[in-house]
Amino acid sequence: MTFVYAFEEGNRHMKKLIGGKGANLAEMTNIGLPVPEGFTISTEACLDYYTNSQTLSDQVKQETFAALKDLEKKTGKTLGGAADPLFVSIRSGAVASMPGMMDTVLNLGMNDETVEAMASLTDNPRFAYDSYRRFIQMFSDVVLGVETYFFERELEKYRESKGYDSDPEMTAADWQELIQTYKQLVDTHTGRPFPVDPHEQLLLSIKAVFDSWNNDRATIYRKLHQIPHNLGTAVNIQSMVFGNMGDDSGTGVAFTRNPSTGEALLYGEYLVNAQGEDVVAGIRTPQPISTMKDVMPEVFEEFQAVCSRLESHYEDMQDIEFTVERGKLYVLQTRNGKRTSQASVKIAVDMVEEGVLTKEQAVDRVDPDQLHQLLHRRIDDGYERQALVKGLPASPGAATGRIVFDADEADRRYKDGEHVILIRPETTPDDIHGIIAAEAVVTSRGGMTSHAAVVARGMGKACICGCEGMKINLQDKTIRVQDKTLSHLDLITIDGATGEVFEGDVPMVEPELSGEFQQLLNWADDVRRLGVRANADNPVDAAKAVEFGAEGIGLCRTEHMFMEQERVPVVRSMILAETVSEREEALRRLLPMQQEDFEGIFKAMAGRPVTIRLLDPPLHEFLPDLEELLVETTKLQVTGENSELLQQKQRLLRKLRELNEFNPMLGHRGCRLGMTNPEIYDMQAEAIFRAAAALEQDGMKVEPEVMIPLVGHVNELRDMRQVVEDAAARVTDDTGVHFTYTVGTMIEVPRAALTADQIAAEADFFSFGTNDLTQTTFGYSRDDAEGKFLQRYVDNGTLETNPFVVLDRDGVGKLVREGVTLGRGAKPDLKAGICGEHGGDPSSIAFCEEQGLDYVSCSPFRVPVARLAAAQAAIRAGSKQASSEAVSN
Ligand code: PEP
Ligand code: MG
Repeated sequence: MTFVYAFEEGNRHMKKLIGGKGANLAEMTNIGLPVPEGFTISTEACLDYYTNSQTLSDQVKQETFAALKDLEKKTGKTLGGAADPLFVSIRSGAVASMPGMMDTVLNLGMNDETVEAMASLTDNPRFAYDSYRRFIQMFSDVVLGVETYFFERELEKYRESKGYDSDPEMTAADWQELIQTYKQLVDTHTGRPFPVDPHEQLLLSIKAVFDSWNNDRATIYRKLHQIPHNLGTAVNIQSMVFGNMGDDSGTGVAFTRNPSTGEALLYGEYLVNAQGEDVVAGIRTPQPISTMKDVMPEVFEEFQAVCSRLESHYEDMQDIEFTVERGKLYVLQTRNGKRTSQASVKIAVDMVEEGVLTKEQAVDRVDPDQLHQLLHRRIDDGYERQALVKGLPASPGAATGRIVFDADEADRRYKDGEHVILIRPETTPDDIHGIIAAEAVVTSRGGMTSHAAVVARGMGKACICGCEGMKINLQDKTIRVQDKTLSHLDLITIDGATGEVFEGDVPMVEPELSGEFQQLLNWADDVRRLGVRANADNPVDAAKAVEFGAEGIGLCRTEHMFMEQERVPVVRSMILAETVSEREEALRRLLPMQQEDFEGIFKAMAGRPVTIRLLDPPLHEFLPDLEELLVETTKLQVTGENSELLQQKQRLLRKLRELNEFNPMLGHRGCRLGMTNPEIYDMQAEAIFRAAAALEQDGMKVEPEVMIPLVGHVNELRDMRQVVEDAAARVTDDTGVHFTYTVGTMIEVPRAALTADQIAAEADFFSFGTNDLTQTTFGYSRDDAEGKFLQRYVDNGTLETNPFVVLDRDGVGKLVREGVTLGRGAKPDLKAGICGEHGGDPSSIAFCEEQGLDYVSCSPFRVPVARLAAAQAAIRAGSKQASSEAVSN
């Protein structure tokens, strides 16, 4: 096995072995771009390091030193050489990009000798000593564990003693003096002198990068982005180029298109006379890239050419880091740029129009989970904007929350259910948990490519950077904006699309979908096989679902209609009825209300299929809480007031006790209610058919699909089907309207899936209720599991994901497969869909595609996600087929 690869030996397809960064550096080297020379130590070496109890094996060391020799030959420089020294950067490079999460060391190779060589070669001693002190600081922080803060404090003390305001006032002699203090500091903290042997520096840095694979922030990042923990990181060792060699040098980061909006214009920032970390850390606020053409016109032209070359080579928007050393351009890194969902959609659609991508490639490229960000709220246009202050619009979206200044606090308050906005001078990777927890992030320093901006955009979270008009005082936890002071926990709203900050809460509106978004979804519709329906219980949700492209309703939960405030008394009198005639009277009053609901939904769906599920939850859910009622009754008994009310409450209490169950989730609910109280289902079915009849008489074709919940035995479905058919016949007799309708069932308990062939005899369709099917397969009650142990299971790896979010293919999935196979075995044209929450989850949708289901149904806001995910599932299923055919040929 080889552990080390020169850039010339790699290519972009070798990400798994040499990491994303290494693969791209190799690719760029091989297509002739100006990349500083270097080599990559593979991810396999990292795994080898962990297998060897965190030691570098002899083979890794040998190959590293051999590659170093080659590098010295290519550059004509020597690491640690006193005449023409080589300096290198050491950077992590995981398979999937994890920006800023792992460690980097720059300027490696500096010591008391090489610094002198650098000073005389560049004829710039100030630059040389500044580089040396930066190296000591960075190396000590990353490798030796002496935090940057200690060095910054010494620097500040030194500047104060000299009366300087800023670093540029430091002379070569000042830096030289400070270097002695820095070395002393290292000695005090580590009990050892600063390592001056460059080979030792190199090995220690490689170890540090491997170690950083498992630091807290990298681990959190991997969890958040579902990156496996066992991939390891590669290490890239590359000869240094210096952007801080004077005003003909500089460094920057640019995206080939705008990562916020997707606009096809070069977008980024640069700093003259600076090193890379100055831009990324947001310490100095950089200049927009377009102004570079005035400062370095030729370099800018070359850079533009490199950008278009890279974009067309990778067929995707690139995020490029570059350095200019004394007028010569070097490309340090390229990768597919992280982008907002809005940009992601626009770029994919534009690239089809530019002839770069096919429609299918565009559909396949956008992450469906990102789409829902486009469906988020924004500030109402009618709102008279009076911003307190404005910063850079780093990541779009609007959010309201209380001000916090600390990532730990943001995390804590988030867990308590609060909405917070994290405000920091700048963020570092250590703030990652706070950024995740916050509704939005605001920083007073840093640009559009600072840490906060990049991370927030990746998460689709609103962010404002470089908000310099905001003076943050971390000590008294306040911010001053002009003449106003805001304090810790004050409420603010931010608009990440404009960079504005507002006081308090402001009105928001639902989003509209852009032309590109519609375009992409239309292409997705051309590709997908699965139908996409919505779960909607009222006309407003139904209309929203249609707007988002739902082809029907896959689940209308009728109990939600029962819970409306003015209906609850009627529903209660139905439940509390002592005699059949009392119950029938209550049901008669409910019928027109239900009919009106169904008419509204049918109208909103304008002839599209609507699946209506008859009553599902246990009846006690419509009655007051038992404990509260007990307290009220006892109070009335004690005071002796209002005996009539007391009697009413006592009656309610008796009924509640009667209905009380040990385990309502497995109790008297679903079709079991219909079996014991057929008059309820009868009323609901009649309401459905009366609504259909009314609309048919108005000229609208309606084909209701009536669904029976929680069936476990075919006889339940047989009986309930009869109730529905009788109701339909009755309405036809009464109105003269003949309907086309179907009766089907939810498959949501294991027995239904296992006897699906028998059940299919009575069913026109199946709809997999994977919420209940997950509960009953695992034997978990969802509310108890999520509240008590499920998160722990996911955190410690007992379960890979929460099975209520991502369908458990091995268990629940097996029952779905069995259900479809048995059902269609008995009735080949049996329609089958899914209406549990999994119907809106891309990975579960891919499973539904594989099982040949007819449709998925999800909440209206997930419909666009499902349309795209269904298309991707079809593309991938198709390509799988194509490749297995290719193999068998
Ligand atoms: C289900 O169980 O998956 C389902 C859709 O029904 P509910 O969530 O209403 O129980
Ligand atoms: Mg259910």
